[in-house]
Amino acid sequence: MVDLLPAALQRWQAVEAVARGHFQRSGFGEIRTPLLESTDLFCRGIGEATDVVGKEMYSFLDRGERSCTLRPEGTASVVRAAIQHGLLSQGAQKLWYAGPMFRYERPQAGRQRQFHQIGVEWLGAESPRSDVEVIALAWDLLQGLGIGGLQLELNSLGSTDDRQAYRDALVAWLEVRVDALDDDSRSRLSSNPLRILDSKHPSTQALLEEAPTLADALSPASRERFERVQSGLSALGIPYRLNPRLVRGLDYYSHTAFEITSDQLGAQATVCGGGRYDGLVGQLGGPATPAVGWALGMERLLLVLEAAATADPQGVAARLTAGAVPAAYVVNRGERAAIAALGLARDLRRAELAIDLDSSGAAFGKQFKRADRCGARWALILGDDEVDQGIVRLKRLQGEPKEQSVALTAISAIVDTLRSS
Ligand code: ATP
Ligand code: MG
Repeated sequence: MVDLLPAALQRWQAVEAVARGHFQRSGFGEIRTPLLESTDLFCRGIGEATDVVGKEMYSFLDRGERSCTLRPEGTASVVRAAIQHGLLSQGAQKLWYAGPMFRYERPQAGRQRQFHQIGVEWLGAESPRSDVEVIALAWDLLQGLGIGGLQLELNSLGSTDDRQAYRDALVAWLEVRVDALDDDSRSRLSSNPLRILDSKHPSTQALLEEAPTLADALSPASRERFERVQSGLSALGIPYRLNPRLVRGLDYYSHTAFEITSDQLGAQATVCGGGRYDGLVGQLGGPATPAVGWALGMERLLLVLEAAATADPQGVAARLTAGAVPAAYVVNRGERAAIAALGLARDLRRAELAIDLDSSGAAFGKQFKRADRCGARWALILGDDEVDQGIVRLKRLQGEPKEQSVALTAISAIVDTLRSS
């Protein structure tokens, strides 16, 4: 688990602001659910056989002897809340969330035990068009951050029946080749065989080249649905690559599954993952409700964003990751000047300007160096002499040099000057 320091949070908030704008314009409303839920919610919602529930949850008994879990993902909680508050009887719900998630994993670059996701859930959306719309939302959000080198990978898991049929076919095929499987995959053969497709083990990977694929197991209706998703993406000019091995880690997916990966990340390349989960609402006790959504990992997104900023220092990503620059730096020395500087900074901040106020009392030269370093366009200079004359000197630090004196009381004139150039 990591601390987030101001420099990182500044970038973080820039990303969140961009995401918020996309959600607002697309009609998604924010939802916030508790970090702590009943363990049972995730067992029922995600599935006991998944890595997340089987190995990665932070679960404990509270003082009332109830088993509680720090949420490992957002979807189950959002669905629980929608059911609990009767939102589903009010028609389709477009919801988004952002916040920390907890999984007991092996920490490495792009993988933490407390990490953060931004996600959307569209409950009550059935048509292939809704799949296309949420994928486009993720794609446009990432593009809007100035991130290149992204790849959209797409698969269809079919209906529950398709998956069951495929599961049986895959198990039958693998059972006669069980000796060639790695240990992990062998134990998944009975518990969660589809996850074997996701194995990173080279020999298992090689074996799977020959295995029956999900695509072959799709019913005609599922296949047609998948084709409509693909033609929808093509119509919007969103490139994708079919990946018949793409299965999502969580149990509740059906039909469309997708991931967006970046060539800027190493092994942990997936920035965003999602898909359709038509069975989940019913499984959690709500009315049968089709749904589609995705979640993106904030930490990985920020890694990609920083790489994009380095690659193109003039681009959108660089602008978003740049630190905030104050409008002016107040250089001051002397007792009366210090008090006047404080008042001046306060007035300008009340006029919504960002002001850095030097509080060191150091020599003017030192203070000017700091003013230059912080990137402010103006230095406001106050010594006791200036205070006695009732003025402040404005010195432009960036661009063409310029200096002028203004009455200390003429706040709006100072504001105009700082704003204008
Ligand atoms: P992975 O295969 O990388 O473990 P996942 O399938 O478990 O990913 P999801 O549950 O789909 O991931 O979560 C969506 C996104 O959240 C991921 O694509 C990733 O960007 C991010 N994410 C998941 N687990 C972590 C983690 N432990 N640390 C940082 N980010 C994570
Ligand atoms: Mg995982």
